[in-house]
Parts: sequence; C-alpha cells; structure tokens
Amino acid sequence: MKTFRLTKLLCVFPILAVALVAAAAIGFPSAVDQYAPYESTTSECLICGRMRTVEHRWMQSPAESIYAGDDSLWMQPQVDNKHDHWWVACSTEGRPGWFDYSMIGCGGGVGGVSTLHYVETYRGVEVAQPLIIEYLQLTQDHDVKSVRDFVQQKLMPALQDRPDTPPEAE
Ligand SMILES: [Zn+2]
Repeated sequence: MKTFRLTKLLCVFPILAVALVAAAAIGFPSAVDQYAPYESTTSECLICGRMRTVEHRWMQSPAESIYAGDDSLWMQPQVDNKHDHWWVACSTEGRPGWFDYSMIGCGGGVGGVSTLHYVETYRGVEVAQPLIIEYLQLTQDHDVKSVRDFVQQKLMPALQDRPDTPPEAE
C-alpha cells in the first residue's frame, strides 16, 4: 500500500512541479509588470524634437528608447546631426510602491520643435524660417526658461490667427 502511494506521488509530483514552474514563468513577469514599482520618464530634445523614454523597472537595468516623430523628421535638415541631445522631461509615469496605483505627471513640455513645425505648416516658410534660426540660437544657451518664453511669446502669437486647415502647398 505504502509503495503504491509513494510511486503514485512520485508520478504526480513531476507533473505538479512542471505545472508550477510553468505557471510561475508565465504569471510572474506579468504580475511584476502589473504590480511592481516602476518609473518611466519621457523627454523631448529641444534641439531636434526627438522623444526619449527611459524606463526603470524592478530588477531590470534602465531601458531607453528614442523616437523620431513627424516634427523631428521635419526639423532634421535644420540641425546638426551630431548635436548632443538636450533632453527636457515632459512627462513621467510610475508606480511608487508595490501594488500602488500608477500615476501620471505632466511637467508641461516645451514643445519648441512641434510649435515651429506648426508655424511653418500654417504660416509658411517666410514666417517660420527666421523664427527657426532664432530658436536654434537660443537653444545653444541651454536655458529652458528662455526657450519656453520664446515659444510662449513669439511662436504662439504667430499661430493665433492661423486658418483652420493648413493652406495648400503651392
Ligand atoms: Zn536632439
């Protein structure tokens, strides 16, 4: 009787062990994704408009990804390709502790390059070009406040009486 139970147990145990390991392997990473603390910061390069996200996840080395959207592709010919990116954080997302809710914080991006792109789309190259030059000169000082002021005080007004749709390109 005893030998029978033991063999039966020996038979069941490996199956159980395999099932447990499989469940842990499948379930654990997604549980970590859902509940572990993390922090993800998105920044924009004020010079070329690329976006960068840096993610710090539990027990993992930081992961960085850089994305070149429409605005940065448009800006590319205007900037030195070898510039040192000037990353300025525009939003963060994260979970401060295990099982906490994730939180999203917007620090208010500057949006310099995207606004310049808007200006050119709606107001044309003649209006945009001098502003692009002035903007790029300003970024050399690496002073976020003066760049932000420029966007607010010079670029935004250029967009105030823009048409609802971009004028047809000639
Ligand atoms: Zn850059």
